[in-house]
Amino acid sequence: MNKKINILISASILGLLALSLIQGYLINNTYKLKKEAFINDTRRSISRIDDFSPTLDSLSNIWQEDLLTTLTDYKVKTATKTDVINNLQRVIDSINELFKQGYQKELLKNNIPYGIKYHKSVKHIILMDSISNDTIYDYKKMPKAIILGDSIPVKNELYISNTLWETDHLDTREIDGKAVNTSLYLMFHTEDVMDIDGWKTEVFKQMIGLLMLSLLIFCFVFGLLYYSIKNLITQKKIADIKTDFVNNITHELKTPLTTLSLASEMLKNPLVKKDSQHFDATINTIERQNKRLQKLIDQVLSNSLGYKEIKLIKKPVEIEAYLNTVLDDFSLIPYTKNVTLNRVFLAKNKVIKIDKFYITTALLNILENAVKYSNDNCVITFNAEIDSDLKISITDHGIGISEENHKHLFDKFYRVEDKALHNVKGLGLGLYYSNQIVKAHHGTITVKSEKDIKTTFVITLPIN
Ligand code: ADP
Repeated sequence: MNKKINILISASILGLLALSLIQGYLINNTYKLKKEAFINDTRRSISRIDDFSPTLDSLSNIWQEDLLTTLTDYKVKTATKTDVINNLQRVIDSINELFKQGYQKELLKNNIPYGIKYHKSVKHIILMDSISNDTIYDYKKMPKAIILGDSIPVKNELYISNTLWETDHLDTREIDGKAVNTSLYLMFHTEDVMDIDGWKTEVFKQMIGLLMLSLLIFCFVFGLLYYSIKNLITQKKIADIKTDFVNNITHELKTPLTTLSLASEMLKNPLVKKDSQHFDATINTIERQNKRLQKLIDQVLSNSLGYKEIKLIKKPVEIEAYLNTVLDDFSLIPYTKNVTLNRVFLAKNKVIKIDKFYITTALLNILENAVKYSNDNCVITFNAEIDSDLKISITDHGIGISEENHKHLFDKFYRVEDKALHNVKGLGLGLYYSNQIVKAHHGTITVKSEKDIKTTFVITLPIN
């Protein structure tokens, strides 16, 4: 059964883990989709801003016209490729601040609620003619990038679009004193990129509902699982306790019942009937076993009462005198073991209000346990002192109780699982009942014990 529960718990934990992984995967996917959608939306809203803005358009015209002029110079060999690139760079640098300001104004006009950085970077400048293409600029081969707009760290760059500006241009240049028409066909390739300030926060804001719901569902499923497993373990414990109890009580009932049946068989025997001594002895045995059965039944009936059901009749008693009577009575009980009882009383002439009957039962339960769970030589120390309350400690040097069992000792039907204790009979009700009695008196009962060394039960009872 324990194995089954362990398998069930492991399977549930694995299931929960798998569910969490799937949920994590789905959330991650949703995050990617939301991020993509958000970036796409932003891209759409800013993609044509520079085309429709007269300011930006006129700034673009400046560098474009300048570029065409230097390209014509290049064509007639009055400028080199480096001149073309340097000139373009210089013009772009001179208008860049205006461009950036103009761009931010356009963003404001378009009601874009988050900060955006934008730039256009030149990828290729190619002059084409019918024979060959002449590459003036290739971003992969040139060390310096030509950028119009903000500088953006590469890892933050979000792609907007690729633009190809194709144009033919006709210009006149004076060569050798003659005006010569010079035409060129230009392919100008650029890429627009952006960086959205705090886009992660924006996407996170959009996902907060989903995240909260997922977390809630996870907590709910986890709670449900935890509750079910806890319940299952409790049920299993109760079932075990019940089985143990039935086994224990059957064991306890068997001996008196067998003796009773033997004794009644003997009484039928004419020889026994005639022998009055034998007859009396058999009747005594029946009486003893009957009492034993009665005690067992009483133990089950009364010892399972809760402290609220115990009706106390409290009377003032003189502590030392009362404890001495209890211990004297205890000393009279015949044991097969050698029992030594030490009494240490520091409660002279003090009175306490208790129900003598119940407290006696509680004390005897603990004292009898001290004998039951000791070796053949049992030494018990009974200590009573007043420290605003009455504190009674009962110590034995028996088998002791290991730490992990302490918290269960006062549970109903609890018995320490120990192979060495197999032959020590009991129902696991004594300490439970003693605790209930002490609780009914508004006192406490605690245990201190070291395995194989000693055990001390401490009962504290309020004086008034
Ligand atoms: P039981 O009928 O089994 O004695 P109790 O409720 O009196 O039931 O005790 C519960 C368990 O506590 C016992 O089964 C025993 O394992 C442990 N126990 C109680 N008193 C002592 C003791 N003095 N020394 C060692 N173990 C003890």
